[in-house]
Amino acid sequence: MYEKTENILKMAKESNTAVISFICMDYTMARSVVYAAEAANTPAIVMLYPEHVTVQHTTGFANYAAMVKELAGEVKVPIGLHADHDFTYDAVMNTIGAGFESVMIDGSMNDLDTNIALTKKVVLKARESGVCVEGEIGHVGAAASSDNANEDLYTKADAAEKFCRETGVNSLAVSIGNAHGEYKDTPHLDIPRLEEIHAATDVSLVLHGGSGIPDDQLLTAFSKGINKFNLGTEFLGRYYDAVAAFSLENADNPDPVKIINLPEYVQGKLQPYLEERLRTLCHF
Ligand SMILES: [Zn+2]
Repeated sequence: MYEKTENILKMAKESNTAVISFICMDYTMARSVVYAAEAANTPAIVMLYPEHVTVQHTTGFANYAAMVKELAGEVKVPIGLHADHDFTYDAVMNTIGAGFESVMIDGSMNDLDTNIALTKKVVLKARESGVCVEGEIGHVGAAASSDNANEDLYTKADAAEKFCRETGVNSLAVSIGNAHGEYKDTPHLDIPRLEEIHAATDVSLVLHGGSGIPDDQLLTAFSKGINKFNLGTEFLGRYYDAVAAFSLENADNPDPVKIINLPEYVQGKLQPYLEERLRTLCHF
């Protein structure tokens, strides 16, 4: 069933666990997540990375929101919808207008006061329509440039406290040794820093750059305030591998419309992987 992400975050906070928010670029990925969540009997969030609309053209904003709500209606577990990194006020308003009730405004490339001003403006407008907002401070950079090891980018507890108090965000993405993309070396989350941020704030904390962080570190982080965990790179890699396997298996298949079997084949490969992730990491 469709559930507002705001409510799923509350459930995760009460259970002292995290919901996994999966980047899904199309129907095949979204359907795989929804049915894996049903099989694992746990909530999940289907998340749009806006560039998949604006750059890669895999979907549209409004049809994506409608697609996720329709898929969610096919299962019993709570399925949320969320839009990942938008960087401007206008972009967030466009996303909200398309039917998203949970959005992210990422002002983390700005100085703290500019980030606060931008995020606060988004929160005030979003609240009018009951939309929940995720912000970010510190800066979650790119794993390819080893940003996860750059403590200058890490979130500071006093800044997090000020940010949450002044903006009114529902959730906050933190930088504690995580980064987007594929890590060069095994990342090490700064758990004492997470504990400080958790003690200084009362919002749901969010961990971006989830691909490649060892499970024991993730589970520790989930017990110390991380209530949402974004998984993209690893999932997209599994998608590619499944398409490649389908292509190999059908190399000698003369059927001119063999492509129509691709989505079901890929979903059959992705669902067991997703189910394993949900069963291992989510404890509602
Ligand atoms: Zn991110």
